[in-house]
Amino acid sequence: FNTERFGQHILKNPGVARDIVDKANLRPTDRVLEVGPGTGNLTVLILEKAKQVTAIEMDPRMAAELSKRVQGTPEQRKLNIMIGDFVKADLPYFDVCISNTPYQISSPIIFRLLSHRPLFRVAILMFQREFAMRLVAQPGSSLWSRLSANVQLYAAVDHIRKVDKANFRPAPEVDSSVVRVVPKDPPPPVKFEEFDGLTRILFTRRNKTVHANFQAKGVYKMLEQNWKTWCAETGQMVEDGVDFKQRVDSLLEETGYAENRAAKMTVDDLLKLLSAFHDIGVHFA
Ligand code: SAM
Repeated sequence: FNTERFGQHILKNPGVARDIVDKANLRPTDRVLEVGPGTGNLTVLILEKAKQVTAIEMDPRMAAELSKRVQGTPEQRKLNIMIGDFVKADLPYFDVCISNTPYQISSPIIFRLLSHRPLFRVAILMFQREFAMRLVAQPGSSLWSRLSANVQLYAAVDHIRKVDKANFRPAPEVDSSVVRVVPKDPPPPVKFEEFDGLTRILFTRRNKTVHANFQAKGVYKMLEQNWKTWCAETGQMVEDGVDFKQRVDSLLEETGYAENRAAKMTVDDLLKLLSAFHDIGVHFA
């Protein structure tokens, strides 16, 4: 195990740790999931307020240290330590997730949490500043990206505070930020793979028009293939001589999105466009 590979930067500022846990507004009935507890600087504070904590830690030495730290305390029985990789672990039920995230798994953490059912109430997560700013970015801003849209499809994300790199040992190379993630409940009734398939095309060059991005190599071909599969699955005849590209282009015109640019499109715009495609049997996954 090595510090870099596991992103082991321990939070040394007790005020910041307290603030992160406070922001979760924990209730005495809450079951909390903590990802990457390390030596337990956040864990002990969570234990004071929650009913139960499951901490998933990949490094057995860290897990042992945490276990020792709570041994013999009244909180010991509330803590369940799972040794393993969060990405592969079976997640328990949880109301709240708190994590000073190992940065290597920033994306997997957020998407795994959002696809977990039943939905959690809130997650308080620390990320590299740049990643955090993309999570909270709004359409029209320079950081609005495929990541922003894909996450905001499922959740409201806001920036809670900055955490300077000097608060960690060893100090990482970049500053961090803490965000609050509140899932939309119920989630929008759209398959993630479909939405992701659309944003993958439109954000390839986010300042180009929707129409221009559809011209990229392979896009029409892939969509036509998906459309034919859909026709077969729904028992529809694939009419002869259909100009598929023409059909897609006129849909883009009709919806009014042809000349839009992903850089300025909202999640709602993207959902409307996706839904119009689905109406004519065109799928992105
Ligand atoms: N939460 C502690 C704190 O704030 O001081 C430690 C934070 S440290 C940035 C990240 C922790 O996550 C390390 O203890 C590391 O071993 C652990 N970790 C790294 N990758 C992991 C993974 N895939 N699953 C679970 N834990 C992981």
